[in-house]
Amino acid sequence: MAEPKSYRNFIDGEWVEASSRGALEDRSPADKGEVIGTFQDSGEADADAAIAAAARAFRRWRLVPAPKRAEYLFRMGEILLKRKEEYAREMTREMGKPIREARGDVQEAIDVCYHLAGEGRRLHGHTTPSELPNKACFSVRAPIGVCGLITPWNFPMAIPSWKLIPALVCGNAVVLKPASDAPLSSYHLVKICQEVGIPRGVVNYVTGSGAAVGGRLTAHPEVRLISFTGSSEVGRLVNLACADTFKRASLEMGGKNAMIVMDDARLDLAVDGAVWGAFATAGQRCTATSRIIVHKKVLKDFVDRLVERAGGLKIGDPLQESVDLGPLVNEAQLKKVMDYVQIGRDEGADPVLGGVRLTKAEYGRGFFFPPTIFTGVTPEMRIAREEIFGPVVCVLAADGLDDALAIANDTLYGLSSSIYTQDVNRAFTAARDLETGITYVNASTIGAETHLPFGGVKRTGNGHREGAAHTALDIFTEWKTVYVDYSGKLQKAQIDNG
Ligand code: NAP
Repeated sequence: MAEPKSYRNFIDGEWVEASSRGALEDRSPADKGEVIGTFQDSGEADADAAIAAAARAFRRWRLVPAPKRAEYLFRMGEILLKRKEEYAREMTREMGKPIREARGDVQEAIDVCYHLAGEGRRLHGHTTPSELPNKACFSVRAPIGVCGLITPWNFPMAIPSWKLIPALVCGNAVVLKPASDAPLSSYHLVKICQEVGIPRGVVNYVTGSGAAVGGRLTAHPEVRLISFTGSSEVGRLVNLACADTFKRASLEMGGKNAMIVMDDARLDLAVDGAVWGAFATAGQRCTATSRIIVHKKVLKDFVDRLVERAGGLKIGDPLQESVDLGPLVNEAQLKKVMDYVQIGRDEGADPVLGGVRLTKAEYGRGFFFPPTIFTGVTPEMRIAREEIFGPVVCVLAADGLDDALAIANDTLYGLSSSIYTQDVNRAFTAARDLETGITYVNASTIGAETHLPFGGVKRTGNGHREGAAHTALDIFTEWKTVYVDYSGKLQKAQIDNG
């Protein structure tokens, strides 16, 4: 096995060691003996240096015309496209998602580059007539300043790109702090920023613990925006810290996503969607299907088919093309999933598939857990209410659409939802009444496209939406209103127009 590479922080255009000189190990979750690389275990001083570099660079970058800023981003997309396979393989090694899904993760970053770079030639503002003669009024999007980007491990290239690319096209400078479980994918993204020649200091990359580096970014007065994706627990802390210095905080957090299967649904389609939604990325997606609410009339048939299909999923080395389910990201995540399975049993739910850690020789070196299906779940059980973030899905019974909607909405979260039905009236009612930021009809809860608004309500989000250009730009710009009075005299709005 090759000696693991040592990766540095990127601050002010230089690859530098952290002042502490400590190291974080990035290990493969499929084989905990394999060290993918070592990363800097940075502290507050490193975050401060990155913030200072970004603040200096921002003064110049904001004045680069947006179409020119966008040219760097188009080139990033081209490089990502060329290296898609290499980066996908490294992603699978570092966080365990099956290789086909890792390719999709890199593809998301490519899509974001092309889509958002196009905004360099738009970044539209508004014009409107003045109420006074010889006066012009318009509003433009202005960059915010230094943005702190804090990202999770489950989409280690896609999510950083959802933040980095719009931040840059809008003229901001950034400090990116990736999740400690998957820093390599965002390292590649930052390396490409350097390769395409984005000026020094505009993009900075600091690895290290959430408390030290993330905490410093959220507290530092020169950081004007935090764009955070992660758990609701940490998001709450980030929000509180941002309030102290009056920062904008864009928070994308946890989910407990429900799929409704009505009695008129095409069950084959619903089972396909359920298997994909519950077990892709081993259930470690914010939009994962974690509750399936099934009409009583089709409950048994649906569960029988679901168990058969999920039981046939291939578990193993996520680099193999045929593997459907890789490992969980780390030991703590595995323990959390096992704890929840025990909680479900204690609550009286019935694990009709899975539920026991895999122990065969080929799984022993990684954090593998099989697809697990609980039936007999009722809405008040903890397994039906709390985010598990693993390959565990709860099946609940409903009497009809109203009951199913009530169960689906009885949650603190509100990211994604879906309904399977052939009845257009039921489909539109559900699309209107499901309390989530995203709803699918006859499709799974996962599968967002990058050019539509992405985010959730309740404890999932605080009102911002990444993705679509118009909503992403709202996160990374301030509106600036300009009045130009060419009347040559003092004119008073609301007073001189009577
Ligand atoms: P997490 O533990 O909340 O960590 C997210 C990021 O925050 C990491 O970079 C982490 O650093 C950092 N962090 C930890 N403590 C911090 C603090 N006190 N101040 C500032 N930053 C801090 O989440 P995760 O385990 O990486 O990701 C899984 C969670 O993300 C799930 O809840 C999932 O639903 C959610 N998620 C949501 C979306 C969405 O769009 N809604 C998308 C993907 C994932 P370290 O890694 O160093 O701890």
